Amino acid sequence: MKIFNTLTGRKEEFVPLEPGKVRMYVCGPTVYNFIHIGNARPMIVFDTVRRYLEYKGYEVNFVSNFTDVDDKIIKKAVEEGVDSSVISRRYIQECRTDMAAMNVRPATVHPKATEEIDGMIDLIGTLMEKGHAYRAGDGTVYFRTDSFKEYGKLSHKNLDELQSGFREIKVTGEEGKESPSDFVLWKPKKEGEPFWESPWCQGRPGWHIECSAMSKKYLGEQIDIHGGGEDLIFPHHENEIAQSEAASGKELARYWMHNGFLNIDNKKMSKSLGNFFTVREIGEKFDLQVLRFFMLSNAHYRSPLNFSEELMEAAKSGLERILNSVDKLTDLEAGAEAGGIREAEEKLCLEAEELAAKYETAMEDDFNTADAVSAVFELVKLANSTAGEDSSRDYVRFLKSTVETLCGILGIVTERKKEDLDAQVEEMIAARQKARKEKNFALADEIRRKLLDMGIILEDTREGVKWKRA
Ligand code: AMP
Ligand code: ZN
Repeated sequence: MKIFNTLTGRKEEFVPLEPGKVRMYVCGPTVYNFIHIGNARPMIVFDTVRRYLEYKGYEVNFVSNFTDVDDKIIKKAVEEGVDSSVISRRYIQECRTDMAAMNVRPATVHPKATEEIDGMIDLIGTLMEKGHAYRAGDGTVYFRTDSFKEYGKLSHKNLDELQSGFREIKVTGEEGKESPSDFVLWKPKKEGEPFWESPWCQGRPGWHIECSAMSKKYLGEQIDIHGGGEDLIFPHHENEIAQSEAASGKELARYWMHNGFLNIDNKKMSKSLGNFFTVREIGEKFDLQVLRFFMLSNAHYRSPLNFSEELMEAAKSGLERILNSVDKLTDLEAGAEAGGIREAEEKLCLEAEELAAKYETAMEDDFNTADAVSAVFELVKLANSTAGEDSSRDYVRFLKSTVETLCGILGIVTERKKEDLDAQVEEMIAARQKARKEKNFALADEIRRKLLDMGIILEDTREGVKWKRA
């Protein structure tokens, strides 16, 4: 299996630190509002990576944080006149709801920054002891970037260039910095803000130290995969590396994976630009499984992906093609007599296996889900053209379970939800009523028969058509 590593700029063979186990950390959202579909991209991408690793037999320990102390959360709390924990708790809950609707599984652990302050203080203490951090006059603690020779190795920036770039920018309140590229580990409290006691001053942690401390606590000093959106490469991940590696003397993560942006009109979707849709808004128009399918089928995770309703509609019909095929196989399976694969079907099984292998080859190549989805479409085509009423039950079962497994790795559920089925039944009943009105009794009967095949019994009553499951 090959993974593109931002650190080396190359695709590399994946070798975990401990055989059979994967330790993986993905930076999670800052919880001050509903998540937008740009934030949903890393969730979907890394959930898929995790599912594939599990399919390959790895035991995956997956940690993803919630940033629940931040200026934006505090601002929102002030606007609403509530404590900032009210805001963060509310949006963590909403985020979990959205994740479930996109079939993004909860991580093994979702630590919250405010519950991990002790670990951050310990880590900052170690950095102070080793001379990698210093306290300025106002109590702010900074990381001393000059003390970490490899600073810039992830973003492939040169420290000297960085320094001259930063030199132009004078940030008020940061006059105590020794060097412009130094960054905050701990900052003094401000009136009305949440704060914690520390050896340096009452205050709160900087953003970057949070992930270094949580990753260390839940996964150890060295992990296999660290991920997030590409906007996190610099400064966030660069700073995480500096903090963790300066403190431990060990490489923080073996593979650094970054997803490309979800764009609108080729501009990054972001709260600050105001060009965003929340996952909740999209959920009003589409089943969120369609959003997931759209992300995985339209682009490689490292490429930018433009969002549009047309592309979502296309994803919806593509997904429908797969689900219809599984519906057909389910019906055939129910109707078929018990029996093993026939000789003529053996060749077709091999073809299906080849397509499953093609899918795996795509996934092994840095998780090329777009190509993997193409293999699923080919499999569906094979199923639609070869499975019929005279097929053996085992052949139908084999096709069905192969499609289900391959979709399951992508987090796509092929079994229709009850409410979707209900909507489909209602639609078919309406079509039957229309046919009857137009005196097209042949069509009306055919629809009734199809419904019966689906286990739906119709009753024509004086109040209209009623239906029940057989
Ligand atoms: P934030 O809440 O801004 O820290 O973002 C949470 C995660 O979403 C990070 O991994 C970001 O890189 C990612 N992210 C934010 N906006 C986008 C976008 N438009 N496309 C892809 N990923 C994004
Ligand atoms: Zn992080």
